Amino acid sequence: LPPAMTAALPLLHRLHDHQFEGVFVGGAVRDTVLGLPLKDIDIATSASPQQVMAIFPKCIPTGLAHGTVTVVHDGIGYEVTTYRIESGYRDCRKPDHVAFIDNLDQDLIRRDFTMNAMAIRQDGALYDPYGGMVDLRLQRLRPVGAGDERFQEDALRMLRAIRFLAVYRLYPTASLWRALIRHRELMRHIAMERVQAELDKMIGSDAPASALGWLGGSRLLNYTKEELPWTPQDHEALKSSRLDLLDSLDERWASIFIALSYTADKVKSALKSLRFGNHRIRFIYSIIHVDAIMAVATVESERRSAWLNVVLAHGEAIAHSWLRCAQAAGCAPLHRDTEQLEGLRRQLLEMPVRTLKELQVNGNDLCRSLGMRKGPWVRELLQLLLSEAASGELPNTEAELLERANIWRTEVNIDEQSNP
Ligand code: ATP
Ligand code: MG
Repeated sequence: LPPAMTAALPLLHRLHDHQFEGVFVGGAVRDTVLGLPLKDIDIATSASPQQVMAIFPKCIPTGLAHGTVTVVHDGIGYEVTTYRIESGYRDCRKPDHVAFIDNLDQDLIRRDFTMNAMAIRQDGALYDPYGGMVDLRLQRLRPVGAGDERFQEDALRMLRAIRFLAVYRLYPTASLWRALIRHRELMRHIAMERVQAELDKMIGSDAPASALGWLGGSRLLNYTKEELPWTPQDHEALKSSRLDLLDSLDERWASIFIALSYTADKVKSALKSLRFGNHRIRFIYSIIHVDAIMAVATVESERRSAWLNVVLAHGEAIAHSWLRCAQAAGCAPLHRDTEQLEGLRRQLLEMPVRTLKELQVNGNDLCRSLGMRKGPWVRELLQLLLSEAASGELPNTEAELLERANIWRTEVNIDEQSNP
């Protein structure tokens, strides 16, 4: 057993000491047999939630209605859930009714896919009544029972299927795929928040391109509760992208939209439908906005000055994000040529100043030196000095900057009132 699971063994022993069954279940069992690192470790037990709380000193009743108690052991929280069956999935999502039972087979049979319906007992033995191991060995994703029924019970399983196909590099059984296509209009029952959460897991995984491929093939995203702008061709456009090169989830999202040439407005409405928070929307939108600016600057000199403005207006971090996203987006219209991106990266690195903070004069210096009262002109002049200093035309020294300010003053017809 992997160390993380061994660390949780005392919980199973303790349940056993009290004449209850306790086993590891779910993703941790699947990832153990695959030799992958474990995320959370879930335990299933024949003990009722009350009995679990009576046995363990440190408990948090996280989901009593569903039979889940979080037991804290050595500082780690484990979800301990009473064996249960579910019924009445009236809205194709959450079950209306949960009943606690004392039978492990019945608990495992309600689980979505065979590889998720295995258990590990306290002696380390694998319990696999529905053939999860065989399916894994054959790289096959198979529902427990009939796909049609399982997707009708809970439509979210269709998105989970796509994620598992991609992340574990599996193929669906023919009947699973047929059932998924047949029931894809049930996607409308899934809250957009849940769709976002599943898509985030797919895009953030180490197989985002594969997930997008399976999504494209299934067209699940064309059946969501709120309309999303994906078209079947979109998935073709993403084939050459290298999302896996990006560490940041939201850079991956931005890169997807760049590869698809979505307009900023289209991106914003898709992200809103998917219930992205404002912070994430702003970040992704900025990158798309930068992309739109860079897309129209086709001549070298235009490109340099557009890029300068981008860096000054959006900041260095967004500029670097766009460079990474444009690179990962893969397809190569003129402005995304690797060499050009490299040139822009160099230009960014060589900029002597990138922010007002780095400028060797501030607003007060300008007022004092020009003998003028504070006003809107200060910001304007600072921006001018910044862009000239950033482009390298103007040395970033106090003397040079103040001299340039003086010239500006004689050039510009300053409003009388600004003069003391
Ligand atoms: P991961 O944590 O990597 O997303 P997981 O398989 O652990 O994958 P969880 O959502 O943590 O997924 O669920 C734990 C277990 O609960 C699953 O392995 C599966 O047995 C069961 N399960 C979760 N969601 C569903 C569902 N929608 N339908 C049926 N069983 C489910
Ligand atoms: Mg899990």
